[in-house]
Amino acid sequence: MSNGFDTDVLIVGAGPAGLVLACELARRGVAFRLVEQRGEPLRASRGKGVQPRTQEIFEDLGVLEAFQAVSGPYPPLRLMEGENVLGERPFNEQVEATEDIPYPNMMMSPQWRTDAVLRERLGELGGHVEYGTALGAFVQDEAAVTAELDVAGALRSVRSRYLVGTDGGRSSVRAALDLAFPGETMDQPRMLFGDVTIEGLSRDAWWMWPSAAGNVGLCPLPHVETFQLMITLAPGEEPELSEPAVASLFESRTGRTDLGLRDPSWLSIFTPSLRLAEAYQRGRVFIAGDAAHVHPPTGAQGLNTSVQDAYNLGWKLALVLQGVASDALLATYESERRPIAEAVLDISSAIARQQGGVGSQPRGRQTQQLDISYRSSVLSLHSGRPDRALVAGDRAPDAIYVDHEGRRRRLFEAFRGPHFTLLTFGAVDAPASSEGPQMEVVRLPTDGQAALTYGISGPSIVLVRPDNYIGLIDESPAPTTVSDYLSAALQA
Ligand SMILES: Cc1cc2nc3c(=O)[nH]c(=O)nc-3n(C[C@H](O)[C@H](O)[C@H](O)COP(=O)(O)OP(=O)(O)OC[C@H]3O[C@@H](n4cnc5c(N)ncnc54)[C@H](O)[C@@H]3O)c2cc1C
Repeated sequence: MSNGFDTDVLIVGAGPAGLVLACELARRGVAFRLVEQRGEPLRASRGKGVQPRTQEIFEDLGVLEAFQAVSGPYPPLRLMEGENVLGERPFNEQVEATEDIPYPNMMMSPQWRTDAVLRERLGELGGHVEYGTALGAFVQDEAAVTAELDVAGALRSVRSRYLVGTDGGRSSVRAALDLAFPGETMDQPRMLFGDVTIEGLSRDAWWMWPSAAGNVGLCPLPHVETFQLMITLAPGEEPELSEPAVASLFESRTGRTDLGLRDPSWLSIFTPSLRLAEAYQRGRVFIAGDAAHVHPPTGAQGLNTSVQDAYNLGWKLALVLQGVASDALLATYESERRPIAEAVLDISSAIARQQGGVGSQPRGRQTQQLDISYRSSVLSLHSGRPDRALVAGDRAPDAIYVDHEGRRRRLFEAFRGPHFTLLTFGAVDAPASSEGPQMEVVRLPTDGQAALTYGISGPSIVLVRPDNYIGLIDESPAPTTVSDYLSAALQA
């Protein structure tokens, strides 16, 4: 890297947000470094619920098959009293896939395996995580960020055009930017979480022992031997995080002395809090994922929201670094994503308050992240009937269509990759822009399945952003519609 820069983007923290951002930059040929203070990946199951929208993003990133191989459906919840079964119900109603929503169900995978899938993809794309490398202080000027990295005790200076803090809830990037992180430590019980091996318990249910002293749950994790353990703690209770202490707490709460709890590979105490950073950007430095928002795990939103933050920021950073868009495009990262996090905080805290502890509430459409929309974004332009169901800013749904060679294809296949996708319905005179960002064109009839899904009745265009949200819908496009939109949007 020349021009006095060591790299274009320094990404700090290799959790799901950092890994997705790195994949997004790698597949666009942007130079980056991804540093992680840990010496090796954390082997913890924490964010195990992966929502339908995240699975769609995984398809775009080319990791869906690998994710499917390590994940599985949520088992039913089985309520217990000692050895007696009190009742059982599905955790989530399983929904059939449709043409427009191919992955309608939340899937479960221990987070360490989801992270591993993303890391492997990053490797295929030519990137890697620099373990044992912690960010120290940094300063920024008009052109660059100069950061100090601690690599096994040796200090190294790195000069990059941008820095992104994907460094988790205790983000030092957020602190260094002096960004307020207002919110509350919730009036909800703290919880002990862990990954443990249990002898003598079948793996066909998420076992729950409700108890006045504190609920206990054991959730079998797919394709591994371990269960995720969760124990609601009493106020002031500080259990020792050791195998004998946790086994004894488990036995006293459940009355099950016949089950052998052993080999905890991760034990942690979680204090639920709700906090949202006052801003996501200061100059050339951004925060994303848990660094920008924290909330209880109820509703399974944290990893999913972190993935989408990175997915939103990645293509924008790349276009700016490639000289295709102005710096102003980057401000839409915060204006699009911060309101989403506000809503996520509301959802996850409402579910936590309803259930008062370990997960038992069914979760529906509101947690699936399929209805996330950037309708009020400056990047969303809608011209045509105001009463249509699908508008600019909404998720671009999947649909089956027949391509020019007569093959049945899915729109999600056409969206896959770093480009914009222009859907033209019927005979329209709105060419793809020959300048500017990479764009693929899909020609569709006005009477097929795609037209129905997109609410199209006459010649129209739909421009789908690289992150597969609709940027532009125009029901009477002119020859310059696409280029006009792009010049405005990319200078946003
Ligand atoms: C018990 C539990 C259950 C959960 N369940 C769910 C769920 O079902 N679904 C869901 O979506 N989410 C869930 N979550 C939340 C999910 O785990 C987090 O939201 C997710 O990990 C956030 O990803 P991230 O990449 O932003 O941060 P993290 O995964 O926290 O990664 C941040 C990384 O930055 C590194 N780092 C920090 N400081 C530095 C530094 N100075 N230099 C270099 N590296 C640094 C850290 O070591 C860490 O590896 C759960 C969380 C918990 C605790």
